[in-house]
Amino acid sequence: MKRIIAIFLLLSLSFCSCTHKITPLERNFFAMDTLINVRIWGDKTTLNQVCESIQKYDALLSSHDPGSDICKLNEGGHLILQDQTAELLALASQYSLETGGAFDPTVYPFIEAWRNAKDTPPELQELLSLSEQIGIKNLSLDGNSASLENQAMIDLGAIAKGYTAQKTIEELKNRNVETAIITLGGNVQTLGSKPDGSKWAVGISDPQNPNRAKAVVSFYGSMALVTSGSYQRYYEFGGERYHHILDPKTGYPAQNDLASVTILTQDGTLADAFSTALFVMGLSDACEFWRSRTDFEAVFILNNGSILATEGAIPLLSECEFTVIER
Ligand code: AMP
Ligand code: MG
Repeated sequence: MKRIIAIFLLLSLSFCSCTHKITPLERNFFAMDTLINVRIWGDKTTLNQVCESIQKYDALLSSHDPGSDICKLNEGGHLILQDQTAELLALASQYSLETGGAFDPTVYPFIEAWRNAKDTPPELQELLSLSEQIGIKNLSLDGNSASLENQAMIDLGAIAKGYTAQKTIEELKNRNVETAIITLGGNVQTLGSKPDGSKWAVGISDPQNPNRAKAVVSFYGSMALVTSGSYQRYYEFGGERYHHILDPKTGYPAQNDLASVTILTQDGTLADAFSTALFVMGLSDACEFWRSRTDFEAVFILNNGSILATEGAIPLLSECEFTVIER
């Protein structure tokens, strides 16, 4: 079995004007299982501090770093959590309920079954035998105190990057930084508008050729853009690919008409949870879900290459043809 993590940064095509006298400071590093890029229009101390914060969130929220809150909770079944872990678990629980379980941080046993499979994908029977462990009902939260029932285990891989981006933007704001863009794999979040007056331009990867942009989202000001796609990470058995976004009802990679979902909104945590959830739902249910809410817009790329965008995303999209999804 080959475990393949194809790391594609959401292509942040923020064409900064080199003629402007204020130039951003930038840092690239690896954390949270992905490449991270932080660019701030601010000073070096602030850049160092927020990069350190990102590493701290990684150490707290990882499901494979033995010192993390999540590993300790998974191991012992009970833990008094650090404040940030408690806050994120409460949000994860809320989004799991709101998405009818399409986003479910208790899929960890399924993920392990795929990770440990040798020459063939996990058997249906094996996945079925794990289903008691899956479900947000198995997680109880009371303030900072967390407990797991039925040997449940948590994986925050579908939401931790979005939360970290959100928290980093908030920290930058508190440190009086007015402009920044941070990229964590498929998550991009901006703060403020660029000092040179140009728009941010963030590319949505072409699932067939992820280093190329299939569409561009252009805008002024602060926004979170998060993409979940079947091309981002996958397992390979006998030349066959099985992507990493699992349907919590079956334990198998979600199979539908979608190749990727990009969520556009103000909140990085919500964007990350919903990009995963809508990918699992498939186009039709995802559209119904969008119609039931007013807190995000979405861009869908189908397996056949066509692009669909919700009404509110229309003014932001360029360099592509798309079909509009109406309310
Ligand atoms: P994302 O790339 O944000 O869509 O998150 C995918 C990652 O979250 C996977 O690599 C798993 O670690 C985990 N995951 C997979 N399926 C789900 C799901 N349905 N709900 C929550 N987490 C998931
Ligand atoms: Mg996600």
